Amino acid sequence: MPDGRPPARDLACPECGATVSDRWRCECGAPLEFADPPAPEGPPPGPDEAMPGPGGSGRGGIGARSGLWAFDEFLAVGDDPADRVTLGEGMTPLVDAERSGDDPSAGGWDAAFKLEYVFPTGSFKDRGATTTLTRARELGVERVVEDSSGNAGAAIATYAARAGIDAAVYVPADVKESKLRAIRRAGAEPVRIEGSRADVTAACVAALGEGDEGRRNGGAADAAWYASHAWNPAFFEGTATVAYEIAAQRGWEAPDAVVTPLGHGTLFLGAYRGFRRLERAGWIDEVPRLFGAQAAGVAPIVRALHGADAADPEGRVNAAADGIQIAEPVRKREILDAVADTDGDALAVTQTAAERELERLHAAGFYTEPTCAVAPAALRELRGRGALSPDDDVVVPLTGSGLKG
Ligand SMILES: [Zn+2]
Repeated sequence: MPDGRPPARDLACPECGATVSDRWRCECGAPLEFADPPAPEGPPPGPDEAMPGPGGSGRGGIGARSGLWAFDEFLAVGDDPADRVTLGEGMTPLVDAERSGDDPSAGGWDAAFKLEYVFPTGSFKDRGATTTLTRARELGVERVVEDSSGNAGAAIATYAARAGIDAAVYVPADVKESKLRAIRRAGAEPVRIEGSRADVTAACVAALGEGDEGRRNGGAADAAWYASHAWNPAFFEGTATVAYEIAAQRGWEAPDAVVTPLGHGTLFLGAYRGFRRLERAGWIDEVPRLFGAQAAGVAPIVRALHGADAADPEGRVNAAADGIQIAEPVRKREILDAVADTDGDALAVTQTAAERELERLHAAGFYTEPTCAVAPAALRELRGRGALSPDDDVVVPLTGSGLKG
């Protein structure tokens, strides 16, 4: 690089082995990964380093000031701190959630909640937006596009504003007004698309230009770059930090299980990758069992594992969980592999169960949006079935704020 900055890292295809400087997907059609993600060489930060407090810094120092970038030893983006597009995000609270607030007879959650709605735009998608826009800046991108049911779009729009990069966000025509407002206020262009969620993605991909394969690194300056929370490996670098934070907050001891909402698998696979990397680095001993909570009626992972009836137990779509209604997850095979590899599972949560759980959450002081109620509802089901025992130590991320509706 002429100015001496470290170059953006190459991508590689796990399917065909191709290596490229940058593309939104491989020529063979598969999602790409970072060719050579970094790994820390030393042990995890000790107790003194781990909580340096205000003004603290140094290798591995974890504090409010550095947020999720405290884990930069694991991150394949932002090698030059000057490229980082950050709003101080991350290190969200991990709090005990022992009782369920409204109805003592229902039993408590008996879990720790990771408050992922405590982010600049009110959802965990900021984890991926900070790393994705950092990658965009490393590549010299001038315009990004994304398609989203709401939260990812608001996150990309906000971080694009922070980076001074133009953004357009493709959204379903019936997107919630509060999410649309967040996109508009950040100066991004919302593009409403009639039809299914898949139609929204198709319209966004069509806007990339350069035939059907999108912009190569170094392509036309006015071409858009796909800041996709489903395709872009930089996004998953960011969502993997949820695992680093959970481990750090627990003194480098992984929980027995983690239960997350599951649509495209943005958080589920981020957690999987993160815990795997921690284990490889020797920072934790074991990867937790990973459970994904899908929306009943749109639950392709549950369908693949347990059949059509299990995926749609009420014969109607869980309309409350609009954030995870993904019929064809881009990384479906990787999700199934992660379930198998961790002795996890996926289950479909009905609208009835999700709405009841949302009321319990709100009554207990967790002001979340409807979609993320599927995860604690799934935990309740898993405990009821005996798939998780009372002794199992469980973390449940609560992914989006109720303030955005
Ligand atoms: Zn390939």
